[in-house]
Amino acid sequence: MKTLIVALQKDGKLISSSLELIEAAKSLGGEILTAILAEHAEQLASELASRGGGKVLAVSDARLKYFNDELYTRVIGELIEKYNPDVVLGTATFYGKALFSRLAAAIGGPMASDAVKIALEGDQLVVTRPHYGGAVLSDLVNNDGKPFFVTLRPKVYPESKDGSGEVVTETVSAVGSETRMTVKEVKSEAGGTVNLTEADVIVSAGRGLKGAEHLGMVKELASVLGGAFGASRAIVDASWTEYANQVGQTGKTVNPKLYIAIGISGAIQHIVGMRSSGTIVAVNKDKDAPIFSIANYGIVGDAFEIVPALTKKFKEELGA
Ligand SMILES: Cc1cc2nc3c(=O)[nH]c(=O)nc-3n(C[C@H](O)[C@H](O)[C@H](O)COP(=O)(O)OP(=O)(O)OC[C@H]3O[C@@H](n4cnc5c(N)ncnc54)[C@H](O)[C@@H]3O)c2cc1C
Repeated sequence: MKTLIVALQKDGKLISSSLELIEAAKSLGGEILTAILAEHAEQLASELASRGGGKVLAVSDARLKYFNDELYTRVIGELIEKYNPDVVLGTATFYGKALFSRLAAAIGGPMASDAVKIALEGDQLVVTRPHYGGAVLSDLVNNDGKPFFVTLRPKVYPESKDGSGEVVTETVSAVGSETRMTVKEVKSEAGGTVNLTEADVIVSAGRGLKGAEHLGMVKELASVLGGAFGASRAIVDASWTEYANQVGQTGKTVNPKLYIAIGISGAIQHIVGMRSSGTIVAVNKDKDAPIFSIANYGIVGDAFEIVPALTKKFKEELGA
């Protein structure tokens, strides 16, 4: 089994789910290659090598500074042609999904997105992925002969801490190819310090907060816990917060260790985006709210009393 991992960087730093891909690839055994594209990829490649990324293919160019799915597809495609992997592994983040669907179409290989497990049965790779909002899990195998393109849901595998590897500097002609789109600049959204899909803790707010002016207390709780702020679609649609924070069917799928839902009813479209979280805590003044059916801990009460009390308690406990 030869696995090519596509590691991604943002602002010249590895995104942590790239290191989770190495851990997943290690579980398959066999040969591991890792591709990293950046303006200056060598430093990142060294880190990947020291985490067990195997043969780390470093492609450096100013045009690779920012994610550009058209250009990245061509560059990775050239590496796939050169190294001929059995499986190409990426992360099921916004960028990872955009890249892998293009890659699979360009190379003509099968694609499994948002996988929650990969394993070898004999010499066959079996990829497990959810359907119907997680109600059904299916096992997929590749009978195609082409590389199997798989994106893994973040936070399912731990980050690889160590291992061996070597850095190989690659010269890829596709870097110079003409593209229809050029990314000149990327501006981070204000406020969001912790990436939602990579967060270990998420505190989300819903319509129970009554208005945008009350979201500050939820954000404060998230910040005290070192977590990210999430939102239901109802409050995104009401323009209380940005779409980037939305969790659910038409927002982000998240998988933190701890998910705290505040003033969120628990509509199925919200639940499908967060139900695989490690521990779910719900705060809602309606004891019959559907969110309690999937919560590990439920607090029936008024968010305007509970949230400040939780924040105060966590501040005391954590010394924050
Ligand atoms: C095609 C489609 C896609 C969708 N995609 C998504 C999606 O991606 N994500 C998503 O979230 N939704 C999505 N929705 C919308 C979804 O169906 C719900 O409408 C939405 O999740 C409801 O948001 P909410 O829980 O914040 O609001 P509500 O359903 O209005 O719930 C508010 C909750 O707050 C509680 N509450 C009120 N006051 C307080 C208080 N003082 N203290 C504590 N609790 C209080 C209430 O008891 C209630 O349970 C989608 C819908 C459709 C049709």
